[in-house]
Amino acid sequence: MLQKTSHFLRQANFIDGAWVEADSGNTIDVINPATGSKIGTVPRSGTAETRRAIEAAETAFQSWKRTSADHRAKLLRKLHDAIMDNQDALAELLVMEQGKPLAEAKGEVGMSAAYVLWYAEEGRRVYGDVVPSPWADRRILVTKEPVGVIGAITPWNFPSSMLARKLGPALASGCTAVAKPASQTPYSGLAWGVLCEEAGFPKGVVNIVTGSASEIGDELCGNPLVRKITFTGSTEVGKLLIQKAAGTVKKVSMELGGNAPFLVFDDADLDRAVAGAVAAKYRNSGQTCVCTNRFFVQAGIYDKFVEKLAGAAKALKVGPGLEEGTQQGPLIDGKAVEKVEELIADATGKGGRLAAGGARHALGGTFFEPTVIAEATPQMRFMQEEIFGPVAPVFRFDKEEEGVGLANDTAFGLACYFYTGDLGRAFRVMEGLRYGLVGVNEGIITTVEAPFGGLKESGLGKEGGHQGIEDYLDTKYVCIGGLGL
Ligand code: NAP
Repeated sequence: MLQKTSHFLRQANFIDGAWVEADSGNTIDVINPATGSKIGTVPRSGTAETRRAIEAAETAFQSWKRTSADHRAKLLRKLHDAIMDNQDALAELLVMEQGKPLAEAKGEVGMSAAYVLWYAEEGRRVYGDVVPSPWADRRILVTKEPVGVIGAITPWNFPSSMLARKLGPALASGCTAVAKPASQTPYSGLAWGVLCEEAGFPKGVVNIVTGSASEIGDELCGNPLVRKITFTGSTEVGKLLIQKAAGTVKKVSMELGGNAPFLVFDDADLDRAVAGAVAAKYRNSGQTCVCTNRFFVQAGIYDKFVEKLAGAAKALKVGPGLEEGTQQGPLIDGKAVEKVEELIADATGKGGRLAAGGARHALGGTFFEPTVIAEATPQMRFMQEEIFGPVAPVFRFDKEEEGVGLANDTAFGLACYFYTGDLGRAFRVMEGLRYGLVGVNEGIITTVEAPFGGLKESGLGKEGGHQGIEDYLDTKYVCIGGLGL
């Protein structure tokens, strides 16, 4: 059924099928980053509310796990349809709290629905094995079962689709969930409660709690009823959660920070590389984990590339996400603007040249000019730090091995991109880059059909693809003896 945006704006938590306040009655303000004004509040819940949500999820798990994969798929298809029927309203809500352009928000909501549909189908293909037995009178079965209650913690930059990647496989496999959305963008998370309720999921199968990150996180990690923690966010918080989950030996999936390199070789199609560079840098104002953090361009085309990228950056229309034609919205908050300013000052102080932007945008607030910095060097901070803003540092390199070496010189290993017209080089470089996701002559590569996830300090596990459901399953070996054969 088609609903208005206000229908999804829930200023309450969803626990055991009911919309409730925090026990204390305390709340958190939610701010629209484009205007700086308050949209509303959400409960500041903590340990007790989270524990109740976990207990509700555990009770629901006892019957949910016994439902057939086909039954769960049917409900997930209803959920998919509810999301798509309300794509506009959900996208508007997302823009209000997150700031991205409406077209990007619609894309994200569509992606959320696509994950749900994908896992509706994947859940029906959770196959086990019948293994040839070494004993004549025994048989060996290997079965897959849902792990149980999962705790899901998500970030503000993709407040809808990051939850879809977790709830989709969890619900499809027969798990139940307690989710904690980011405090800056809780409404797109709470909207999943509305959608799941209306699609007909039983109470307690999905619970959504907002509030104190450390209290909710500690309870999710420490409570033995929770059997898996799935987290998307910074590497710093991810490491903390891994440590905390160790106390009860839970499964963990971690989608953490990135430091994506984007290499352009002399033999690349320059215009294609520039178009890919704009998409891979300025989407969501540079606030994505797969956004290019460092451009490495071979000396022969360096100047031309910088000139064209600077031209494209200057042409981007900056504005509120709901305004027609906006290509870049505001940054999430003042702290994000200050970080970007610091990184630019660090670079210009070390010889970097501003080829485009470099300052706060005339619109004020947290709007920032799309920026290009030429003559970047490895001594600059963004060689090792995630920028998370619309700044494109462009480094120069001569030899292929040098470019690949620079690209790999980071603790992260999420996404990388490179552009070349040479097939041999494409394979050499692809095999040389230590990243979980590789775009060859493409700047946007995420899709539900493919496994998304980082190497090194960018994370553990995969989301999407047929791989994305594995972490929600336990493998059980069954030996059936005494068959008298
Ligand atoms: P963040 O600060 O790590 O926060 C992410 C989530 O963790 C939020 O819900 C936050 O809650 C919660 N959190 C913070 N401290 C916690 C604690 N001590 N215990 C439990 N939960 C805690 O990250 P962010 O700034 O929102 O997101 C940006 C980061 O996410 C970037 O590093 C980006 O690369 C990464 N990211 C990775 C992927 C991927 O797939 N690899 C995708 C998107 C983003 P509060 O909001 O209440 O503080």
